[in-house]
This record gives sequence, structure tokens and C-alpha cells, in this order.
Amino acid sequence: MELWFSEYQSKNVRFSLRIKDMLYSRKTPYQFLSVFETEEMGRIMTLDDVVQLTTRDEFVYHEMISHVPLFTHRSPEKVLVIGGGDGGTIREILKHPVKKVHLVEIDEQVIEASKKFFPSLSLGFSDPRTSIFCEDGIEFVKNNKGYDVIIIDSTDPLGPAVGLFSREFYKDVFSALNNDGIMVAQTESPFFYGDFLKRVYGDISSIFRFTNIYTAVIPTYPGAFWTFTMGSKSIDPTAVDPGELPDLDTKYYSRDIHKSCFVLPPFVKNIISK
Ligand code: SAM
Repeated sequence: MELWFSEYQSKNVRFSLRIKDMLYSRKTPYQFLSVFETEEMGRIMTLDDVVQLTTRDEFVYHEMISHVPLFTHRSPEKVLVIGGGDGGTIREILKHPVKKVHLVEIDEQVIEASKKFFPSLSLGFSDPRTSIFCEDGIEFVKNNKGYDVIIIDSTDPLGPAVGLFSREFYKDVFSALNNDGIMVAQTESPFFYGDFLKRVYGDISSIFRFTNIYTAVIPTYPGAFWTFTMGSKSIDPTAVDPGELPDLDTKYYSRDIHKSCFVLPPFVKNIISK
């Protein structure tokens, strides 16, 4: 009998992958965590039946959520990741000469599952620059400051992640950043979450001097065409000259992508301007 995983986008739209092997399935205090193997997309982690990553295309998301803000800042020393318990974002941040990376993941079991099933993502957990806090990121940013870059690598705006997309939270993120600080959040697909994107863009731009959306193509996320929204306190992201950026070992991010990812198609411009 064939076993399929389906992510329901709405009652009329679902995206499915055939499961080759079910490796792990457990209810944590926060969500339902599963890990399974597929033929074409590799190993997959889901939370509450939403794909978090596949080993085939995770590099796109993790490179783009990390290198674009870090290279926009140019000299980040202290970086905070909120969510991101799979470790992929930490792995990418550690390619930069940063001094400290703090990871605040609410669900310790995501970290443990990643150590066990996703060694190619979780390898940065043992780096001496990394500190891990198993806490709610919403509370953490109220009490910890002095970051150059804050990356909000969260689940969709459901359950414990709802508050990570609120205006109050972005204000706390602003306060937790240094004067030239930059934040970035994954902000979903403009195909399915247009109203959400418009609201988040409005909230971030009411707090930060510069707000820019950039995009990437991530095949296993619903809609595939994905957005990230960046808020910057004083550095204009469009003034960065990608020609000056150092080389990095990446598979999706490049100097050309750094420049082109900020170019938005008219339908996305319409979403945020209407
Ligand atoms: N790349 C992923 C995506 O967009 O689907 C996100 C991956 S990462 C696994 C997301 C993490 O955010 C989850 O492990 C979840 O436990 C964590 N998270 C959700 N709400 C949180 C909160 N309030 N504080 C800290 N971590 C949170």
C-alpha cells in the first residue's frame, strides 16, 4: 500500500509526497513532529503536517535567509536566530566570520530530531560560537539585546509562531538590535498569503527605516515562490554593491542573486502597495 504525505493549503489545494520510509513521528509539547524518507526529495521534516525542510532543496531557504542579511550588514559579529531548530540557518551563518550565534528554539525536540536525522544541517550546534536556548523567542527578545542581525526562521503563523509575526514583536526585535542592525523574517508565499505579506510588510516598515522584500524559489514550500522581508535600522539594502562581496561556498546564493532577489514582479509590488 502506498503511503502519502499531504500538506493542505486550503480545502481545495494540497501538495503531496510519497513516503518511502517513516522514520519518526511524535507529539511534542508544542507540535506534531515527523521525519520521513522520500524517493526524490530526500529526507523531510514536518511540523503539524507542514513541510519544514527537505534535504533536496533546504539549501535555497537557508542560504537566502542568512547570506542576504549578513552581507547587507557587512560586519556582523553577534547574530540571533529565532526558531530554526533544524540548524540549517546556523550552518550558513557560521560560514561568516561571526563571533556569537544565539539560537532560540521553543521546541527542544526539533533540535534533538535534527541532530539524529539531519546531521548535514545540525553540524553547527557544536560550534564554539553557537549557544542554544530552548525558550520562547517572543520573550527572549524582550530581555536580550546587542545583536547585529536577527533572523526569524519560524514555522508558519500558527500555534507558538503566531506572535513572531506581530507588530509588538517586531518592535522588540528593533530594540534588541544595535544601531546598524538588520532583521529578516520568512514571510510565506505571495500566491497564497498576499494579505498576510501586506500586513507584515506594513508592520515592519512602520518600525524600520528601510524595509525590503526579496524572493527565492523553494520547490517544496506551497507556492514555491517564497518571500523574505528585511527591516534595516540604518543600512540601505539596495546600496550594497554585490561586486564587493567575498566568495562563499553556496549552491543558490551568489553575488548576482543578491542583487536580483530584491526585484519584485508587479503582482507582488501590487500586494504591498494596494
Ligand atoms: N524553514 C522552515 C519553514 O519555513 O518551514 C522553518 C524551520 S524551523 C524548524 C521553525 C521552528 O520555529 C520550529 O522548530 C518551531 O518549533 C520554532 N518556533 C515556533 N514558534 C517559536 C517561538 N515562539 N519561539 C521560538 N521558536 C519557535
